[in-house]
Amino acid sequence: MPSKTAPLPVPGAPRDGAPALDPVTRARLWGNPCWFAFRFNYLAKYYNVPLYGWVRRRYGLTRPEYIVVHGLGLCECATARDLSISYGFPKNTLSRAIHNLVRRGLIERAARKDDRRSFHLRLTAQGRAVYDEALPFFIQMQDDMLRALSPPEREQLSVLLAKVVLDTFTWSPKGVAIKEGPRAAWDTALSAYPHAPDGYNQYFDIATSGATVLLSTKIERYDIPHRTVWIKGEKLVFDLIVSTISPDQLYDNCYGALPYIGRDFHKIVLPVEHVFPEHVYFLYYANDERFTRLVEYKKFTLHKSPTTLIGMEIPSMNGKYYPLPMKSALAQAARYHDDMPRDVYSLGRHGSYRYAIDIDDCIEQAMAMAEQVKAGGGEHPVPGAKWR
Ligand SMILES: Cc1cc2nc3c(=O)[nH]c(=O)nc-3n(C[C@H](O)[C@H](O)[C@H](O)COP(=O)(O)OP(=O)(O)OC[C@H]3O[C@@H](n4cnc5c(N)ncnc54)[C@H](O)[C@@H]3O)c2cc1C
Repeated sequence: MPSKTAPLPVPGAPRDGAPALDPVTRARLWGNPCWFAFRFNYLAKYYNVPLYGWVRRRYGLTRPEYIVVHGLGLCECATARDLSISYGFPKNTLSRAIHNLVRRGLIERAARKDDRRSFHLRLTAQGRAVYDEALPFFIQMQDDMLRALSPPEREQLSVLLAKVVLDTFTWSPKGVAIKEGPRAAWDTALSAYPHAPDGYNQYFDIATSGATVLLSTKIERYDIPHRTVWIKGEKLVFDLIVSTISPDQLYDNCYGALPYIGRDFHKIVLPVEHVFPEHVYFLYYANDERFTRLVEYKKFTLHKSPTTLIGMEIPSMNGKYYPLPMKSALAQAARYHDDMPRDVYSLGRHGSYRYAIDIDDCIEQAMAMAEQVKAGGGEHPVPGAKWR
């Protein structure tokens, strides 16, 4: 985050106030802890409202439409993404603006050689004429607003404000992955997925060779302290129990049912070969959308087909998939783990009751458990100290 605002009184405040001002503006100028925000918001309004009003009357263009014209006037051949990063308008607002401008013949799209999925945008001759005609009005307004400053003061103001603008690129994402801190994007990871049409089946055959696997079998009752379970009415006692289900189920919820969040899962088949850009497998959303992410499965499976399947995940109370990270819920899960005797292991996302456990962590935990068992066991029912 940027450094703290300056302490009051703000430098430059006139000793005896500014009598011509209304009391609210005076307070916002000189008695305002958010002095910076007030100054840029106040000035932006006096600049934007008359100019964009004029643009609308003169050319019938909305503000997002005009900023596209202005952006392309200054910087030929930008992409929609470049404009969205710089102006901060939502992507769909800009897409609509771009669509309208293309329709009106003010801008045109040109395919990029390096990326056939995105387009460069540029002004047409008609768009350039609008930009050239409007620019002097924008410059005039700027000159009028800066008339209280001498040329060196204007230069100083420009340098200082540019410094503040540049700094926003170090703490605001602007469509670029955040690289540091708790919200850093994990954009160097490798995703692994079996390409075999039957998924992990062959892997399971190898992993379970020599073991008796009971498929489609439900455990009806548990007596964990005695490492005993009941299957189809039959009582079975084991030397070792490894559970990957929620620990409350093993103890009939004796300390209360552990809380989980579920997911509504929507599957959408689209009549095109691929939807996401190259090398993009997941799209994560963290704003106002109801869904958390979209997944294009073909990217993982390398399945060949003229259509593509997109999965959309929406948090809901449908199903028990995601343990809650709250201290009270973790403490509740720990009570169940504490009751587990030696040679009972509880692992995986549900068994450990840890949201952050993905499939690779499940495998790592299984390997940690194998080491514990070889060493005589008894360390903890949740293998791996980082997951408890
Ligand atoms: C929507 C969603 C998306 C995810 N996306 C990813 C991802 O992109 N990448 C990633 O790495 N991880 C992802 N995960 C997490 C991953 O699926 C889990 O971490 C992993 O499946 C846990 O494996 P597990 O073997 O511990 O447990 P599970 O796969 O949950 O297996 C537990 C098994 O126990 C069975 N069972 C339950 N009760 C009984 C009973 N009484 N008797 C017999 N059997 C029983 C269940 O039917 C189930 O088959 C996702 C999870 C969800 C829900």
